[in-house]
Amino acid sequence: MTVISNHMPTAELQALDAAHHLHPFTNGGELNTKGARIITRAKGVTLTDSEGNEILDGMAGLWCVNVGYGRKEMAEVAARQMLELPYYNTFFQTSHVPAIALSERLAKLSPHDLNHVFYAGSGSEANDTNIRMVRTYWAEKGHPEKKTIIARKNGYHGSTVGSGSLGGMTGMHAQGGMPIPDIHHIDQPNWYAEGGDTDPNEFGLQRARALEEAILELGEDKVAAFIGEPIQGAGGVIIPPETYWPEIQRICEQYNILLIADEVITGFGRTGNWFGCETFDIKPHIMTIAKGLSSGYAPIGGSLVCDEVAEVMNSCEFNHGYTYSGHPVACAVALENLRLLDEEGIVEKVGKETAPYLKKKWESLNEHPLVGETQLCGLMGSMALTPHKDSRAAFAAEAGTAGLICREHCFANNLVMRHVGDRMVISPPLVITNAEIDTLVERAWKALDQAHAQLKDEGLL
Ligand code: PMP
Repeated sequence: MTVISNHMPTAELQALDAAHHLHPFTNGGELNTKGARIITRAKGVTLTDSEGNEILDGMAGLWCVNVGYGRKEMAEVAARQMLELPYYNTFFQTSHVPAIALSERLAKLSPHDLNHVFYAGSGSEANDTNIRMVRTYWAEKGHPEKKTIIARKNGYHGSTVGSGSLGGMTGMHAQGGMPIPDIHHIDQPNWYAEGGDTDPNEFGLQRARALEEAILELGEDKVAAFIGEPIQGAGGVIIPPETYWPEIQRICEQYNILLIADEVITGFGRTGNWFGCETFDIKPHIMTIAKGLSSGYAPIGGSLVCDEVAEVMNSCEFNHGYTYSGHPVACAVALENLRLLDEEGIVEKVGKETAPYLKKKWESLNEHPLVGETQLCGLMGSMALTPHKDSRAAFAAEAGTAGLICREHCFANNLVMRHVGDRMVISPPLVITNAEIDTLVERAWKALDQAHAQLKDEGLL
């Protein structure tokens, strides 16, 4: 039998990958023709591929490797936990120390009275839990008709049928029977793309008031909850105007609607505080967590739940749960990750040092002729590509064409920077150094130059 390993030639690994592996969010046929880039190892913020290239990971994997790659402590904790108790469930009136310890830690770490956790294996699963939890909450309180969840167009909440329905991605809704009923989408607070001549703060208020309009249209007695990411991540790192969240909060309170903050990306230091809710002063009833909870070292997600909702949920049997809810190895790894983020002062450093440094450098990209705006909050940032800075115009070519060209040049220059349409986004590991930030921005500038030249050559500018 062939032993498949890092030592195999790249072409052979690519051929096997093409033969047997279906990739997420990928046109398989196109990928199989060109062959996947095979990542073999990683350390700090740097990935190594099967050709020996060293690539700066400006995306922390999928916005998740907050403590950076190659942390021995995490591997040791996982090994120890696997030897002691590799698996047990928490369904059968049983519990275990990793789940107990992580729950206690999360209760202390999270803002306000989010003192309870329901575990899942991912962010998508956690949002599926949230759909059922908010509806069950209202049903238990005698309002079973309060079940519609309001979410946003171009929001992202996961890829299962439930969470994908909460998300407002039209491409996803076009496949496989989504959205499920009783989900309502309102417009997003994306001033750059949709604000026209309106002042950004006025626009923020308008887009928040779309929630109020939807509640009035649907009927307050029909609406269970509103869900939003403090900063839309997969939608293009869209940082809302500062008027947006306070108004959303007011509306949720006024109309007795539960507020769910999806912090799958913004949690665990990404915005320079432990949670995006602290950065934006949001007081949610439920917070979705995943990704940075374990820095991606183990699959784990969950719903952090406030006292009031937990009390109601504890008064009934919630017929819901996953085999891997509170998986002991994932919990132990997450706990170790939180220890590193805390004891090494990683989150604090992002807020005080790394984010201000990156902001200065990132904003310098505004001077590039292809860049219409840059946005940054903590260590998540975006820049909009445009053929015309002043009007914030979109390209005549299909949306995403310029973004894809730019991303390909980034990759060729050993930088992972993702594109969402014609917005370029970054979210590097929180441990990135100033020197690595310099490299990131230098490579981004070079890729922008090359993209600019190619767009001109192809008549797209
Ligand atoms: N919510 C948000 C805000 C996300 O960004 C993501 C993943 N990108 C998810 C939920 C889904 O998480 P997962 O991929 O772990 O299911």
